[in-house]
Amino acid sequence: MKKIFIYILCLVLLCFLIPILFTKRKEIKTLKKEELEENIEPYDYGKYNKIKLLHSSTGEVEEIDLDTYLLGVVSSEMPANFEEEALKAQSLVARTYTIYKIINGSKHENADICDNSNCCQAWISKEDRLNRWNKEERDSNWTKIENAVNSTKGKIITYEGKPINAFFHSNSGGTTDTASSVWGGTNYPYLQAVKTSGEDAYAQYSSELSLSKEEFTSKIKEYHSNFEIDFNKNNQIQILEYTEGDRIKTVKIGNLSLSGVEVRNIFGLKSARFKINIEDNNIKFNVIGYGHGVGMSQTGADNMAKQGKNYEEIVKHYYTGVEIMNIV
Ligand SMILES: [Zn+2]
Repeated sequence: MKKIFIYILCLVLLCFLIPILFTKRKEIKTLKKEELEENIEPYDYGKYNKIKLLHSSTGEVEEIDLDTYLLGVVSSEMPANFEEEALKAQSLVARTYTIYKIINGSKHENADICDNSNCCQAWISKEDRLNRWNKEERDSNWTKIENAVNSTKGKIITYEGKPINAFFHSNSGGTTDTASSVWGGTNYPYLQAVKTSGEDAYAQYSSELSLSKEEFTSKIKEYHSNFEIDFNKNNQIQILEYTEGDRIKTVKIGNLSLSGVEVRNIFGLKSARFKINIEDNNIKFNVIGYGHGVGMSQTGADNMAKQGKNYEEIVKHYYTGVEIMNIV
């Protein structure tokens, strides 16, 4: 009887032990994050206090303080009449974007970054910036930009301890997108499709383009000489696939299957969130949003700030699972 009791006891213990053993394994997996934190390369961010900026128009490389550089970036990338918290978010994003680019390899041989928005990040000198503002608003605008950069001094956005690839754009049109569904390739866990609101109040929200069928055809032929389309047939333009954030991923036009990004480039559309309609002899694009749609939406950030959100809340909304880290 005693033996049977011991057997039962052992069985009961085993029943408890087996799940514990398995959960332990799981715990080891989830501990990975802590392990990662221990193994984070100790970047010396302090060395990025000065950066080498390439002026793309002259080819000249200027060594400049990081935060002085950021004044030129923020004042070039975001309207100064946006809310202070949105400008702070933009400063944090621009600082992070800059450091990420330097750490992960500059495109330029003798410089860390250039001033061309199509290549790296837009930048404007203080003198040029002030000249482009009305006299009455120069001082107040500049002070606002300085406050935004200074109040985020030394801070960057990190994911698992490392600076993020802080993409941003003007207006998402309602939902941002994952990097991989827009460009293919790398998927960044912090760049998810997130909803934004209030962007329709901004001029960047909607735009249109109308072309004749001939113009439409010849534009595509500039990129694809084998392009053919017969407008007398039905279904010559069909959306085949949408991205996670509801932009056009693939569209069939005549004999071609094109990505939304390529159609955007061919026709110079403001975004890949568009509708195409054939109207008599014209092809009409109705476009929503402005920019690639990945990362922070600037108008969305401004709207969040108007709703009383601070820059940390804005940044954490657009970049999933990130932290704001002090690097000095
Ligand atoms: Zn560049």
